[in-house]
Amino acid sequence: MSLQVHMELKRRGLLFILSSPSGAGKTTLSRRLLASYADAAAHETMVMSVSVTTRSIRPGEVDGQDYFFVDKARYDQMVAGGEMLEHARVFENFYGTPAKFVQEQISRGTDVLFDIDWQGTQQLRAKKPDDLVSVFILPPSMDELERRLKARAQDSDEVVKKRMEKAEAEISHWQEYDYVLINQDIDQTLEKIDTILKAERLKKTRQDGLSDFVGSL
Ligand code: 5GP
Repeated sequence: MSLQVHMELKRRGLLFILSSPSGAGKTTLSRRLLASYADAAAHETMVMSVSVTTRSIRPGEVDGQDYFFVDKARYDQMVAGGEMLEHARVFENFYGTPAKFVQEQISRGTDVLFDIDWQGTQQLRAKKPDDLVSVFILPPSMDELERRLKARAQDSDEVVKKRMEKAEAEISHWQEYDYVLINQDIDQTLEKIDTILKAERLKKTRQDGLSDFVGSL
């Protein structure tokens, strides 16, 4: 009986951030994580926050799915109109998280996954400190990171070089994250992320109905 009551307690959705330098495996991890929750019960689902960006679309990317690709004028308009939960310049481009979608999801108890950089993570932490869980993904080595970036073959040599330079700067923020994982093996890393998520969902601060429940005991 008490177990049944507990299962029905209302929970706020959490903001689950995966950050890493490009090429550390974050995109694959995000996709697999979302797929693993696709058939989950309503209170265990997770959706991806689709960012807005001014960078050009890469081969294989889908507008509205990987990003909302916009020009700088539209981006500036969204920032000025207060439509972004966070926004930042990363490399030569601008990125931002549309706020409305995220608010809707967390208020109905659905977790939201973010693939954003350290600047966005800092802004979200300042805005929603109680709802945020952040995970930083490290590559096993810088050589491996470069190999993965080259294997991706989506970017020119010059861009790969720039991304390697920026990777170091991104990695320097690792201590600002709640969890730090070395992505040696995708399956193992995914299992660790799943463990983090399951434990974080059980935190008392996220269970909105807990005080009423305890009061009624
Ligand atoms: P890419 O151009 O390779 O898709 O992404 C470059 C970087 O921008 C990645 O580190 C990614 O996490 C970050 N990024 C993507 N979307 C957002 C966003 O909405 N906000 C912030 N702050 N960073 C983002």
